[in-house]
Amino acid sequence: MAPAPTDFDVAVVGAGPAGAAAALGALHADPSLRVVLLDRSDFPRDKACGDGVAPHVLDLLAEVGVTGLVDDQVPVARLRLGFGGLVAERPMARPAWVVPRQVFDARLVDAAVTAGVRFLRHRVRALRQHADAVVLDDQISAAVVVGADGAHSAVRRVLGQPRGPVALALRGYAPVAPGWRGAQVIEFGTRHQPSYAWSFDRGDGLANVGYGELLHEGRPAPSRALLLERLEVLLSGAAEGGQHWAGHHLPLSMARWRPLAGRVLLVGDAARLVNPLTGEGIHHAVATGIAAGRAAAAALRDERPERAGEDYVRATRRILQPHLRHTAVVARLARSTRLIEAGLRASAADQRVFDDFVELGLAHGRLTRTVALGLGRALLTPTRPNGRHQEPA
Ligand SMILES: Cc1cc2nc3c(=O)[nH]c(=O)nc-3n(C[C@H](O)[C@H](O)[C@H](O)COP(=O)(O)OP(=O)(O)OC[C@H]3O[C@@H](n4cnc5c(N)ncnc54)[C@H](O)[C@@H]3O)c2cc1C
Repeated sequence: MAPAPTDFDVAVVGAGPAGAAAALGALHADPSLRVVLLDRSDFPRDKACGDGVAPHVLDLLAEVGVTGLVDDQVPVARLRLGFGGLVAERPMARPAWVVPRQVFDARLVDAAVTAGVRFLRHRVRALRQHADAVVLDDQISAAVVVGADGAHSAVRRVLGQPRGPVALALRGYAPVAPGWRGAQVIEFGTRHQPSYAWSFDRGDGLANVGYGELLHEGRPAPSRALLLERLEVLLSGAAEGGQHWAGHHLPLSMARWRPLAGRVLLVGDAARLVNPLTGEGIHHAVATGIAAGRAAAAALRDERPERAGEDYVRATRRILQPHLRHTAVVARLARSTRLIEAGLRASAADQRVFDDFVELGLAHGRLTRTVALGLGRALLTPTRPNGRHQEPA
């Protein structure tokens, strides 16, 4: 019997970076596909974020034909990492960008629409899987569905997938402090582990400033006032004149991650893929989004849409699994104050260690031999009597 016709070949739920990338990945692989991108909001829309966009994100987008997305933005060349008086400040191997998500996400959705996606404002509440299609809210049917609906994903909930460890972070926009111009500044917390405050220069006189920390099971989440207080303790003055405060959860990645087989694929925050070291999630959102879109296109080409999940498992195993394992190891090590200090001293002493840490925190880097040797050296090197050691910038 011929399969029942579906409204769409691919339906993507959520039009953030993961969802837009999934739509682009599918259409780049096969421009004839009928792809719908659903979001509960119209675009442009805000999203609480540090707005830090790693250069690797732009590399990935270029692979699916999207270029020039940040050409009118000011790149940020320096990264300053601080912890309890220790500082490692260096140029990054490649500059990063700080682009308000209101701008970045809308541009990605525009790129997807230009590529041929149909954008619909629609909040997905229910999903039913049939033998030959997936039906959303009894209204929209598709051969493959990509769940890209963020930290509180309705699609993940329907699939019965747990949420895992979660951090909470608050961000605002404030005039950039003179000492932090042209830099992404991260100050790790010494009292609440893991936690950090940031000030990311947007290049237009404002900085994205914020603070986030891991939430602990059974303990109440910190209030907005407490998050702001902790931001002030770590980066005094950064929040002065701040506006547009907004908070959101970050579902952190773990060492083990295995997507489900079948017709429903989870990507980005919906798949719990925020880097536990840095809170960076856009890279993994775009990487998994593109991989899911391509997997859907390949499965549809083979007339086996029910195999899309398996293709996705294969593609992401290669690009993500070792990185996720290594990140989990470093996140565990970073619970030790001594190791954070050693990491900072090693980064301050050696550009290559710094670069490898940046790769681990921003994209798909691994715990390299250079980092291991740098950490070992720093642990064996005596510090000043107070344990503090500040390298020149
Ligand atoms: C304060 C803060 C700071 C951060 N800083 C950074 C940073 O500097 N750099 C970085 O890389 N990452 C950062 N992150 C993480 C980053 O924001 C996320 O990892 C990223 O947004 C994930 O993209 P996504 O497309 O998976 O989800 P989202 O960007 O959350 O997009 C999900 C989309 O789904 C839509 N949606 C939700 N539910 C439904 C539904 N039921 N039906 C239809 N649509 C729905 C939403 O409207 C939204 O548009 C930060 C996060 C926070 C909270």
